[in-house]
Amino acid sequence: MGNPKAFINIPRKDAGYRPINERIYDFGEVEQTLNREDRKLQASRCMDCGVPFCHWSCPLGNKMPEWQDLIYKGQWKEAIEVLHETNNFPDFTGRICPALCEKSCVLALHEAPVTIRENEAAVTEVAFIEGMIKARPPKTRTGKKIAVIGSGPAGLAAAQQLNRKGHHVTVFEKENGLGGLLRYGIPNFKLNKNIIDRRLALLVEEGIEFKTNIEIGKDITGKEIMQNYDAVCIAVGAGHPRDISPKGRSLKGIHFALDFLSQQNQLIMGEKVDENKIISAKDKHVLVIGGGDTGSDCVGTSIRQGAVKVTQIEILPQPPIDKNPDTPWPYYPNILKTSSSHQEGCVRKWSLNTTKFIGEKGKLTEVEVEEVEWTKDESGRWNMKPTGKTEIIKADLVFLALGFIHPVHEGLLTELGVQFDGRGNVATDKESKSNIGKVFATGDAAMGASLVVRAIASGRQVAEDIHNSL
Ligand SMILES: Cc1cc2nc3c(=O)[nH]c(=O)nc-3n(C[C@H](O)[C@H](O)[C@H](O)COP(=O)(O)OP(=O)(O)OC[C@H]3O[C@@H](n4cnc5c(N)ncnc54)[C@H](O)[C@@H]3O)c2cc1C
Repeated sequence: MGNPKAFINIPRKDAGYRPINERIYDFGEVEQTLNREDRKLQASRCMDCGVPFCHWSCPLGNKMPEWQDLIYKGQWKEAIEVLHETNNFPDFTGRICPALCEKSCVLALHEAPVTIRENEAAVTEVAFIEGMIKARPPKTRTGKKIAVIGSGPAGLAAAQQLNRKGHHVTVFEKENGLGGLLRYGIPNFKLNKNIIDRRLALLVEEGIEFKTNIEIGKDITGKEIMQNYDAVCIAVGAGHPRDISPKGRSLKGIHFALDFLSQQNQLIMGEKVDENKIISAKDKHVLVIGGGDTGSDCVGTSIRQGAVKVTQIEILPQPPIDKNPDTPWPYYPNILKTSSSHQEGCVRKWSLNTTKFIGEKGKLTEVEVEEVEWTKDESGRWNMKPTGKTEIIKADLVFLALGFIHPVHEGLLTELGVQFDGRGNVATDKESKSNIGKVFATGDAAMGASLVVRAIASGRQVAEDIHNSL
């Protein structure tokens, strides 16, 4: 801690977003960057607390105080080394992590927290630009072969860790591109895909083998994989979306959020998309059902595609704007989150249940919603009660952004005969092992839909467990 008074004298400075009237016309990243001097000042605000709650709340256990201090001293190389000790991909989390660390930063009790997430992104950018991040292939090989199925952040982290232990790792991916939801879910305006590509180039250089356009359980059977590998790591994500079934659900114009988002990412990457299946928000009245991050990504994408009006509704009540006594510091606060996409112009409404899709000649034209009231019973459980007050929202395009239930069971998981837990995720023991010998599971497939930072942490853990079992 080079400057013990910085947290008193230096205010938090966010890099901020590009101007709205510029960014809505492209899919480039919206977030800007500070210059190195300002970044050092921001890092100096870290108080090096006796108990660093930032470190406690980070699923990866990132050592925030250590690398904030290194940034402050301009020791960027040492900073990236400390970051890499706990996080394989700080370039991803530095951009898209909801930063659990900042919410539990001790400064956040009274002041604005340290800009930990932006500082993380800044370290990786300096490190990449100045050639400090290099491939680290293993010196010797163990002769063991491991199949990782799925190339999202969990699969990639597991693959890198296992490869570094000297095992021969093959990652199978059913899509054309690698990265899972990093590539096909998260929009480019939050995470440019060249950020994934430069990491993948390092993984290839380290000796990991990637096989794309291969769906395990269809193009290659699970049985074949079991015969040819010493361990199998399931990292297939939680791809089964939550649906609703009000009257009119089959009308044309109602889509799952991910179908829309992945298509936009495919178009930007120049991948072939069936013209008859294009979902376009241009000149449309868009209704996004679901108030979370995926919904917000649909808002930003619709605005960029030229929607006339975008409305986002949520069944839960509006969370408090500032502090929420139900989620006090150092927990992640359930408060109103306004994303860069919301700022770009969207109507947001809460406590609304979708009751009917209305259409003409098979096409969606409007959606009926009903206000709901939320009350707590004696045991503290929330109960929802319809109030009978309905509203019609004009909409010719609806995106269902209601989250994901569990991994897709059909195909690979059913063929392997893995057991599922009560929520339908792959059931694993404390060593990440499924009920089938030598089959392990990680990421959203085992935890349920979560966050990139948790997927990376889970990937690191499964790698450790597979290595120990071998
Ligand atoms: C729209 C959207 C936006 C999000 N934004 C954020 C965000 O801003 N910040 C954040 O922290 N988290 C975000 N998340 C959540 C985050 O992306 C996920 O938690 C994370 O990607 C899960 O990683 P994973 O590796 O477990 O699975 P995934 O990323 O889902 O990867 C699984 C991979 O397995 C492949 N696969 C599946 N079955 C097979 C098979 N049989 N054979 C071969 N390959 C197969 C899939 O094609 C996919 O590539 C977002 C999620 C969505 C949907």
